Amino acid sequence: MTERFFSTYQIAKLLGTTLDAVNKWMDDGTLNCTRMPDGSPRITESALIDFLTEQGIDLGEVLSKAGYSKVSDDETGEDTPETPAAEQPQPRPAEPETQPEADAEPEPEPEASSEESTDQPELRAAQICDAVFADAIAQGAQTVRIAVRRGRLLLQLRIAGALRDKPNFDVNLTDAMRREIAAHLLEIADPNTSIETLATPLCSEFTRTVDSRRTSMRISSIPTRHGPSFVIHMPPKPANLDALELDDEAKAELEAMLQSDGLIVVASKRRTGRDAAMQAMFAAADANAAEVLAIGPRFQGNADTISHLPTDPAAGLTYSAAADAIEHQDPDTVILTELRDPKTAWAAFEAAHDGALVIAGTNAFSADGAIAELRAMGIEPWPLGRTLQAVVEQAAVPMLCEHCKRKIADSTCEPIGCDRCGGTGWAGKAILTGVVFVRDRLAELIRTAAPDKQILSEIADSQPASLARAAQAAVDRGATTADKVARIMTRRPA
Ligand SMILES: [Zn+2]
Repeated sequence: MTERFFSTYQIAKLLGTTLDAVNKWMDDGTLNCTRMPDGSPRITESALIDFLTEQGIDLGEVLSKAGYSKVSDDETGEDTPETPAAEQPQPRPAEPETQPEADAEPEPEPEASSEESTDQPELRAAQICDAVFADAIAQGAQTVRIAVRRGRLLLQLRIAGALRDKPNFDVNLTDAMRREIAAHLLEIADPNTSIETLATPLCSEFTRTVDSRRTSMRISSIPTRHGPSFVIHMPPKPANLDALELDDEAKAELEAMLQSDGLIVVASKRRTGRDAAMQAMFAAADANAAEVLAIGPRFQGNADTISHLPTDPAAGLTYSAAADAIEHQDPDTVILTELRDPKTAWAAFEAAHDGALVIAGTNAFSADGAIAELRAMGIEPWPLGRTLQAVVEQAAVPMLCEHCKRKIADSTCEPIGCDRCGGTGWAGKAILTGVVFVRDRLAELIRTAAPDKQILSEIADSQPASLARAAQAAVDRGATTADKVARIMTRRPA
C-alpha cells in the first residue's frame, strides 16, 4: 500500500484550521512530519490518522471513507452552490477574536485547486458527528455531550459514570465548522429549528448508520446563554445478566429470583449504570409476562409488550401519581426507575407482596442503605423481610492503568503513571456489582426490625457476592487500590 502525503496546506484545509495551527503541531511534535528532498514538510496519511486519534476522536475512518479527494467522487460531480464562503480555501476563520496569524500565508500548493470541491461543511459536520458517535459507542460511552461555549465546542463522553473531557476535539476546527456541527446536531434534534430560533429544550430519537450498523440514539438539546448544548444518549448495550459480572452462583440465584415474584432493589446512582442493570434484569425476567409496567423518565424495551409511563412532573405525572397506576393496572412486572417517595414505595411494595415481580431503583449505594430507606418510607418490618428478595449494589470505581501499574504485594498493585494515562496511573472507572440475597438470618433480622448495625454486620459476614466482596476482589487482582474502594469496604459496623 502506498502511503499518501499531505502538505501542511492540505492538512489545514482538511481539518478546517489555520496553517499556523498545523505548523505549531509540527513544531511541538504533536503531528509527525516527513521532510521531502527539497526540505518541504509532508505529512503521511498514517501520521495524520495517528494525530487525529490522539486528539481523542477517531477521524481515521472518516478520512479513509471520505478521503481527501474521494468525497467529490461520491457526489458524482455535483456542484455545491450551498458551500458557505467561509469554507472556500482561505485558511483562516473570519472571526476577529481568533489569535492573530501574522505568517499564515498559504504556501503554494499545486494540488490544492483540484481538491477544493471536497470542502463541504455540512457533509464534513455529519461525518465528524458520526465519527464522534462511533468513537463513543466503541468506548462504551453512555452519553456524548457537545456544547457551544463562547464559540468553541466542548466535547465530553460519559463512560462508566465518569464524565471525560476531550479537550482537543475542537482545536482542529474553524469557527465555521463549529457552527456547522452545532447546526447539524440541531437539525437532528428538530429540522424545523435553527440556532437563532432555539428557545425550548428539544428531545428526539434518531437513527444513524454507525460502523455499518443502524443505531438508534436520543438527542436532547437545550438553549444556553452561550449557545445550544446537546446530549446524545447512546444505545444501551445488549441487556443480559452477564453484564453485571457476578459470579456464576450469584447469577444463577438472581436469575431464579427474576422468574418469581417479590421486590428486587437496585442500589446505585443512575449514572452508575442503574438503568443498564435494571434493563439486564428485566431481560432475564419472564419475558412473557402479560402486563409489564415501566415507570420512570425512560425505559428502553419492546414497546409492544411494555406499557411505559414516563414521569413528567411538568405534566402532572409524578412518581406518586404513577404509583396509582401500579395499583390500578395490576401488572405482572413493574419496573420502577426510582423509589422516590413513600407513596410509590408503598405501591411497588404492595404489588410485589401481591405476586408481581418489582424491580426498583434507589439512590442508596448499599443493601443496608436500601433496607434502611425502605424502613424509613414506612414499610413494615415483617412484610419487608418477606417481600424483599435481593438488593443489587453498584459503584463506579477508578481502575489502575494497565500499562504502568506496579505490583507491590501478592497481586495487589499501585499507580505509577505513564504516557497512556497522562501520568496519573489511573485509566477510567469500572462499575463493580454485588448482590445481597435476603434470606435466612438476614430476612429474619429484617422481619424482627433488628437495628441497622446488626443488619450491616450480617451482610458483611454472610454475603459472598456483596459489593464489598467484589471490591476486595478487585483490589486483590490489582485492578484498583484499597484506598479507592475504602468507602465500600469499610461498610462494616464499628
Ligand atoms: Zn499508565
